[in-house]
Amino acid sequence: MVYVEGCIFCQIAQGKIPSDVVFETDKLIAFRDIHPKSPVHILIIPKNHVNPRLDLTQQDVETLPEIFLAAKEITRKEGIGERGFRLIANVGPESGQEVEHLHFHILGGKRLGPMG
Ligand code: 5GP
Ligand code: ZN
Repeated sequence: MVYVEGCIFCQIAQGKIPSDVVFETDKLIAFRDIHPKSPVHILIIPKNHVNPRLDLTQQDVETLPEIFLAAKEITRKEGIGERGFRLIANVGPESGQEVEHLHFHILGGKRLGPMG
């Protein structure tokens, strides 16, 4: 596992910074966003640091499908699996990505507007 010094999500992945964890395996962790933008706002991250250039290792490639399976499990538990939700990742400067460790947002629990 590669952790980057000063990366807040690497610290969350290691349990060094507390977070409201909803799902965890050896490869990934999901926790509630600290500033939720919808009634359900959860972030899923590979524990391994993946930068905004998406320099994926073989291990990262194996983790990606597990992120989708985790999203399915989490949204079912949160009661939004059938209602629908948004699963997105901001990647790189023009996306507005703030935390430079790959993360997927699950947004749901309300009617979401069109993508802006
Ligand atoms: P981005 O803009 O990079 O796609 O999204 C980063 C998200 O991480 C934001 O929605 C922000 O609220 C969330 N976030 C930033 N720092 C923390 C933190 O320390 N803990 C949690 N739970 N969420 C965070
Ligand atoms: Zn990181």
